[in-house]
Amino acid sequence: MKKYVPTIGLEIHAELKTRTKMFCDSKNDPDEERPNVNICPICMGHPGTLPVINKQAVKHVIKMGQAVGGTIANFTEFDRKNYFYPDIPKGYQISQYKYPLVSGGSLHGVQLTRIHLEEDTARSTHDTGTESLVDFNRAGLPLMELVTEPVIHSAEEASAFARELQLLLQYLGAGDANMEKGEMRVEANISIAPEGSKTFGTKVEVKNINSFKAVEKAIAYEIERHTAMLEAGEKIIQETRGWDETKEETFSQRVKEDSHDYRYFPEPDLPKIYVSEIPEFAPEKIKAELGELPWERRERLTKELGLRSEDAEVYVRNKEWGDYFEAVVEKLKKEGDEKKLVATLSNYINSDLASLVKNNPKRWADAKIDADSFAELISMTAANKVSSRGAKEILKVMFEKGGSPEKISSELGLAQQSGEETLMPIVKKVIENNPTVVADFKSGKAASLQYLLGQAMKESRGSGNPEVLKKLLTEVLSK
Ligand code: ADP
Ligand code: MG
Repeated sequence: MKKYVPTIGLEIHAELKTRTKMFCDSKNDPDEERPNVNICPICMGHPGTLPVINKQAVKHVIKMGQAVGGTIANFTEFDRKNYFYPDIPKGYQISQYKYPLVSGGSLHGVQLTRIHLEEDTARSTHDTGTESLVDFNRAGLPLMELVTEPVIHSAEEASAFARELQLLLQYLGAGDANMEKGEMRVEANISIAPEGSKTFGTKVEVKNINSFKAVEKAIAYEIERHTAMLEAGEKIIQETRGWDETKEETFSQRVKEDSHDYRYFPEPDLPKIYVSEIPEFAPEKIKAELGELPWERRERLTKELGLRSEDAEVYVRNKEWGDYFEAVVEKLKKEGDEKKLVATLSNYINSDLASLVKNNPKRWADAKIDADSFAELISMTAANKVSSRGAKEILKVMFEKGGSPEKISSELGLAQQSGEETLMPIVKKVIENNPTVVADFKSGKAASLQYLLGQAMKESRGSGNPEVLKKLLTEVLSK
């Protein structure tokens, strides 16, 4: 069997977060469940109405462009893309054709072709019996389209790219980009060619992909299908395919004859935009508003705070969680050995706290443990004032009821005992109660010490300092 190289290019649409729609003052509310309430004569395409450009939407795309190192157009305009469909009330979509707002740039190692701005279509439902329904709340929402060059070579790379794009949109406050809600929609163009080939194979385009997992599965499915076809001597036809989520396979939707003739022409109802002449779009101004970008945070968390990359990724992907973690880090900075404290903290947050939150997300949403108290708990463990078992107990109480870790520790009798006078009786008792294990140890079975230590910890109800207990055990046993 020949070896084939897959090539993938993505076209991704994302709804932008703005107060109003792209060209009118109807509300942009993706959570509105009542159909056809956020509409007006403009987004319903009534004759005689005039659109007005939403500045916030333009700014979001300029910020995106700057974040990915693309070229922001000095001059840009909107175009009419003419076609008829019930979800497009005007009979055309206002989009950008010749002069996209952003050209070039790269994200997650993938070169971008362009990013432009357009308006979303209405949402149609065809499965309610004999009629089709159309909800125009979505018609005219600001929609960003990003197109990549055909430079991606695996399904995993494609979904990783889409994830990074989602993060970037969220970090910039440009969109929530929730794929399940259709706020971000991925179309994947896929072709394969024999290894060493100088040209691309025929591509197909897969639509209706509504999760990152589906991005991967749909692309992998197509690569396999193309490979089998070429192996069987068949020809791949250029077409648009849909992704069937239940069957986990793609199906043919329409065969692309010639490229559509949309009769694009510059939108006469809107002014041209001379971006470089608009003071608030000045590059320095935009740059100052970008804030920290996902890859910058990733770098800072691993390099400066010394986190393992898996841990850093949790904070990068869940911005709020990361912000909480960093708020506690700030409090710990005054203490000594920062990296060690931070590592301990990250452990408590990503394992113990994470499982508490998972079991009771409402409690966490209502009352987060305050950063000062969390930092105090970590300092207590570092100073051996409480064992790690004790700290977990305290954390649980802090999560459920709040309160200061010192106070909880003394209430529960969890303060770590390091005094030899206090611990010696425990050690003696354990040795007395376990004669066989002691005999094993004396005859050379080193592992028995670990067992005795465990018994001593238990006897101290978790409050004994394991270091001190071990030292005392060794002392007594060697007598
Ligand atoms: P079309 O005119 O069919 O829309 P474009 O040239 O506009 O095609 O490209 C659309 C998307 O398809 C882009 O993301 C591009 O990177 C990707 N693409 C183009 N050719 C190929 C190919 N042979 N294999 C995979 N992807 C491709
Ligand atoms: Mg295209």
